[in-house]
Amino acid sequence: DPGVSVPQTRSPRGGSLTLLRRIGVVDPTSLDDYRAHGGYETLRRAVDLGASRVVQELKDSSLTGRGGAAFPTGVKWDGVATAPVRPHYLVCNADESEPGTFKDRVLMEYDPFGLVEAMTIAGWATGCERGYLYVRGEYPLATRRLEHAIEQARRRGYLGEDVMGEGVTFDIELRRGAGAYICGEETALLNSIEGFRGEPRNKPPFPSVSGLFGKPTVINNVETLYNVLQVLDVGGPAFASVGGERSTGTKLFCVSGAVATPGVYEVDFGTTLRELLTLAGGLRGELRTILLGGAAGGFVMPDQLDVPLTLEGAREIGATLGSGVVLAFDTDADLVGTLRRIAAFFRDESCGQCVPCRVGTVRQEEALARLERGTPIGDRETELALLDDLARVMRDASICGLGQTAPAAVGSALALGLLDRPDPTTNGKASAWVPR
Ligand code: SF4
Repeated sequence: DPGVSVPQTRSPRGGSLTLLRRIGVVDPTSLDDYRAHGGYETLRRAVDLGASRVVQELKDSSLTGRGGAAFPTGVKWDGVATAPVRPHYLVCNADESEPGTFKDRVLMEYDPFGLVEAMTIAGWATGCERGYLYVRGEYPLATRRLEHAIEQARRRGYLGEDVMGEGVTFDIELRRGAGAYICGEETALLNSIEGFRGEPRNKPPFPSVSGLFGKPTVINNVETLYNVLQVLDVGGPAFASVGGERSTGTKLFCVSGAVATPGVYEVDFGTTLRELLTLAGGLRGELRTILLGGAAGGFVMPDQLDVPLTLEGAREIGATLGSGVVLAFDTDADLVGTLRRIAAFFRDESCGQCVPCRVGTVRQEEALARLERGTPIGDRETELALLDDLARVMRDASICGLGQTAPAAVGSALALGLLDRPDPTTNGKASAWVPR
């Protein structure tokens, strides 16, 4: 897609792993070309190792989920692999919808067979004979290429009742989302596959105990599954030696906004934000702030660019790595407008199931609008206290992550004083925007 720049970069620290190695190199429509570039060697290695050893390699790697929650993948796999209830299901969460994310899309569009192979390994190692690949509805090219890859793999014996002649049974069914952000939440996604409204379930029980159709289910994000190939290629301990203690391996970041070369960049965990921005060609204009982790993340100020990009490093400055969003704003950016859109986004995307989120996202947007127009209820401090109250209630009482994190970016901007300056797009005057 010409709209997405996909520079293949390496970590400035010279790491040995790279998830992007086949992007732009292999023909994404050719199984033969995929095989010519090492495709299906990892599945062969996995079968030789045996399922329990594969799970152990995952545990040794300390690989954590790349969808945002950062749960240890090996622990998740082990829980399902050893569950006595049958059947088991595998679900790949490819409903990449966080504003500012496009890394999974690049992987699926340019290396679709990689995902099919990784899902086959995951399914086989955890005792699943069926996998569901839930792709964001607005990703038509990724969908077409994945459908083609699944069909090719099935025809050539890489999916089906006797995968690679090894007696492994595994097949994949692709499902398309219908445009709801909430279906990226894992239990809403399960409901959607089952044909129900995409509303999150209460947890526990967790999907590894009672997931799809009430059976033990492994749910992995796209980037996490590509990492499985890396883990088995280099071995768990070698994978764990890259990055930090709790953040191992490499991470894909979607760098956009006021940088010279927006795109998907892969760096070792522990690389600093400054180094990542340098890889993206440096900043355009004078930096005002960076949104790290997406709409549910937090803002990073220009004097914090040496923060190491690890789960812990981001947390220490009140942000999160989330799904890898790095969105740079220069001093001309309409930051107030962006926050307004984030608030409106959460209001629109709330599934409405629980009151703290359904009402809280509306109230948050209204308070932000009053602040922007300079017409707070009472004074500005009262309005900020109201936003703080709302944030606490939403965080503590919402059923799922959407409601719990909806106040994050707005709260971060307020705490850092980012809204104290006039909006440059309106010369400091009230905007024409009016909340619904
Ligand atoms: Fe739905 Fe929001 Fe409640 Fe999640 S927090 S269940 S999105 S209303």
